[in-house]
Amino acid sequence: MQISFHGAAQTVTGSQHLITVNGEKILLDCGLYQGKRDEARRRNREFPFDASAVDAVVLSHAHIDHSGNIPNLVKQGFRGRVLCTTATVDLCGAMLLDSGHIQEEDVAYVNRQRKKYGEPPVEPIYTQEDASEALKYLEGIEYEKPYQLRPGITVTLYDAGHMLGSAIVALDCQPKEGRPNQRLVFTGDLGRPHVPILRDPTLLETADILLIESTYGSRTHPPMEESAEALKTIIKRTSHRGGKVIIPAFAVERTQLLVYLLNKLYHQGDLPEIPIYVDSPLAVNVTDIFRRHPECFDDETRGYILHEDPEGDVFGFRQLRYIRDVEQSKKLHTLRGPCVIISASGMAEAGRIQHHLKNNIEDPRNTVLIVGWQAPNTLGRRLVEKAPVVRIFGMEYHLEAEVVTLNGFSSHADQPGLLSWVQAFKKPPEQTFIVHGDPEAAQVLATRLRNDLGYKGVMVPSLHQNVEI
Ligand SMILES: [Zn+2]
Repeated sequence: MQISFHGAAQTVTGSQHLITVNGEKILLDCGLYQGKRDEARRRNREFPFDASAVDAVVLSHAHIDHSGNIPNLVKQGFRGRVLCTTATVDLCGAMLLDSGHIQEEDVAYVNRQRKKYGEPPVEPIYTQEDASEALKYLEGIEYEKPYQLRPGITVTLYDAGHMLGSAIVALDCQPKEGRPNQRLVFTGDLGRPHVPILRDPTLLETADILLIESTYGSRTHPPMEESAEALKTIIKRTSHRGGKVIIPAFAVERTQLLVYLLNKLYHQGDLPEIPIYVDSPLAVNVTDIFRRHPECFDDETRGYILHEDPEGDVFGFRQLRYIRDVEQSKKLHTLRGPCVIISASGMAEAGRIQHHLKNNIEDPRNTVLIVGWQAPNTLGRRLVEKAPVVRIFGMEYHLEAEVVTLNGFSSHADQPGLLSWVQAFKKPPEQTFIVHGDPEAAQVLATRLRNDLGYKGVMVPSLHQNVEI
């Protein structure tokens, strides 16, 4: 078996690992690399392998840094199956089209700049039409039902508890030449136990080869209950002073989690009588997909829907309105009085949230609530740092609103979570590869696995490194 690490190697983005076994080439994830525009374009446009030679893709989950380059793979000649859960198929239906649209918009902007300097236009990495074509290759399979990919190669997906439809991938390979079976386990992104909506990550007993994510390999999260409690306090405090709560949130997962928590507060009588708006077309589409996949919910959420939520819809309640239409979104700009507006993008770098921030951050009665990690150099990060002046659409705005950051909503396992998950293995894997983490986080996790759990053969692969096992 050979493994080549073509993305999410010593970084958290662009997940892509090529496995060659029994002469078959299987790609685990095909994510977009997200980073500086020029570097991202270069890395995403060309694959470091022949796309038409890949026999199959196994996709852990729908996040764009794991799924987002599938349309380009198809464009470059891939004609195999993309196996994933049925919820992931549905989510990719919304997210890859959205990504195609973003690629087209981005190139339109770049080409306007290029024209000024007399440079020829560039093509988008892929279009919405390419994304639509690529969706035909996705095939949904059920959790924990082994699927024979090729003679001697079986794929089984287990719930990773990270987002709707997220999976841990197990590849059971029967090598030729009478060698023993090898089980490769790829965590994808691993979730946290005891979070709302999702089941806990499935514990596995065996892995010969392990690819484990390490996003928070060196960190411990505050408990989610603390952040949920703070959400209640912040909404009450802001509405008492007549202000609005503006929440930049990713349209997928984080928005649905917030709506679920607000739904609970509403039914407990703990939510002030103020309107709540989810203003993002993608979030609206994705919430509908969540509603279609109750089989992915944990027992607590299903019990809550059956017994405690009179409307039987955890993503809807009387005070909540979803906004798809652009004119209705603009009407929110003239609203008087307290309200909550949840909008994308999650780091406030694009989308409708920028309008809501521009209209509201100069009023000290308002609150900007940050509920996710903010990358350096983003508007979200400048808000977290409480920069006195921020630029939005080229204009300067004075930050007078209260800014609160809640760090407890992460959908990734932290260091204790990762260590406790691997302890379900009856014996340590022979080889462990630490992926999907910055170098420091990956090295810290590697050290803990070696020193605390006696792991041997632990490695933090570098980009494009090829390992023979
Ligand atoms: Zn993810």
